[in-house]
Amino acid sequence: MTTVVWFRRDLRTTDNPNLTAAAARGEVVACYVLDPAQVAAEGPTSTGWLAANLRALNASLDGRLCVRVGAPQEVIPALAAEVGAAVVQAASECEAPAALRDSVVRDALARRGVAWREVGSPYAVTPGKVTTRDGSGFKVFSAFAKSWQAHGWPDPAPSPASLSLIPVASDASAWRKLDKAITMCPIALPPAGEEAARQLWQKFARKRLDDYAVMRDRPDSSGTTWLSPYLRLGVIHPRTLLADLVGHSGAGVDRFIVELAWREFYADVAWRNPSSLEADLNPLPITYDEPGEQFTAWCEGRTGYPLVDAGQRQLLATGWMHNRVRMISASFLTKDLHVWWKHGADFFARHLLDSDAASNVHGWQWVAGTGTDAAPYFRIFNPVAQAERFDPDGDYVRKWVPELTHLRGGTVHRPWEAADGYSRGYPQRIVDHETERLEALARYQASKAPAAPPSLA
Ligand SMILES: Cc1cc2nc3c(=O)[nH]c(=O)nc-3n(C[C@H](O)[C@H](O)[C@H](O)COP(=O)(O)OP(=O)(O)OC[C@H]3O[C@@H](n4cnc5c(N)ncnc54)[C@H](O)[C@@H]3O)c2cc1C
Repeated sequence: MTTVVWFRRDLRTTDNPNLTAAAARGEVVACYVLDPAQVAAEGPTSTGWLAANLRALNASLDGRLCVRVGAPQEVIPALAAEVGAAVVQAASECEAPAALRDSVVRDALARRGVAWREVGSPYAVTPGKVTTRDGSGFKVFSAFAKSWQAHGWPDPAPSPASLSLIPVASDASAWRKLDKAITMCPIALPPAGEEAARQLWQKFARKRLDDYAVMRDRPDSSGTTWLSPYLRLGVIHPRTLLADLVGHSGAGVDRFIVELAWREFYADVAWRNPSSLEADLNPLPITYDEPGEQFTAWCEGRTGYPLVDAGQRQLLATGWMHNRVRMISASFLTKDLHVWWKHGADFFARHLLDSDAASNVHGWQWVAGTGTDAAPYFRIFNPVAQAERFDPDGDYVRKWVPELTHLRGGTVHRPWEAADGYSRGYPQRIVDHETERLEALARYQASKAPAAPPSLA
């Protein structure tokens, strides 16, 4: 029996239950669908990273990854007919737009008598499976995390006993388009593929895991895994990481598992509340400002607040930003510039290598105070105090903001207090944090005020 294995967010051959199950049934056609609509929506950074990982997957599959260009609902049924497949199999997609697309593909296949199967998902526990006693979803992270751990997850999938891959030609233009996407990528891409992800993880586990609980908050150190871009495309699976941690203990291990749980929590929340990917889960009737020149300054790292600017410039230069700095930068946009978080989330999505709808949107809503289990609205990050706490010697700022390299140690966080703070062209602050903090609180209070009685006039 021939099975078409449609790769999406599982670009790996190791610990891939989808591939293993298909190989056990017979011959396999491995394919990826390059959807022009998706490419246009995601932008050049994501597409370059995708392309590099498809190249790596193709190498792992001995050059037998068939890449077709077009809309999946047309490409997949046509490919199944071409190779005489009885089954098309894929790992479940949990975000609403992808799940909807899959239901269209499934119906198109059914009309041709081809079965559709889903095996595995990008998560240790598929969204929807961790529930409260009454069967509903968790709204509070700590309760979810406890229940998620108690639920548990399967062991990594074994490698296929034998894998018989049928060579099927890719579209003539497919690899050309992908190679162009790599060349046109606006950033230098990190090493792609499952071997690179594994090496990154093993090095982290050997050298950094023990200190993770403390160092994960320090943007001036390499205290985190940098695995999010690989997790995003399923180049490595969280189940693989969790399995490697069995038998290890300590604050670092515990904290790392908690962070993986955040990813699963947000996927679960997004799965249960699909509209939360586009709008506030718990809206606050706050008045926001339209994005204008200050928003552009934020995007480009020219706010005059060194840590915010360093983070934005790290994002533009590498496609990644440290988690602590993401929170501070998001707080600055929503509470100091009073811009709705969605504008920031869309900007992040276009520039992040790890751009993941659920984690991005709910990370933003957490900061904005409108998500599930969010920080209260009146928690407003002070970008200077945070910088002095988490980048005490200023190394992170100096790395990304060349106009400030002449300022020593922590003085880099307050160029306005240094005689030569602006001598190399660093911009003045675009707003005064204290003034805008009070403004944000005033808007929050106003949003809670009872509506004015209707005028009698
Ligand atoms: C405003 C904002 C936007 C974000 N957007 C994204 C996004 O688009 N994609 C994304 O993967 N993460 C996002 N995050 C979460 C977090 O910043 C990144 O997952 C983390 O910085 C990735 O670096 P790392 O792999 O070195 O993390 P590590 O510290 O090594 O953590 C390991 C893994 O745990 C998961 N994780 C860690 N922290 C979080 C978290 N707070 N929320 C969800 N998962 C987490 C990630 O999968 C990460 O790779 C966002 C956070 C904020 C505040």
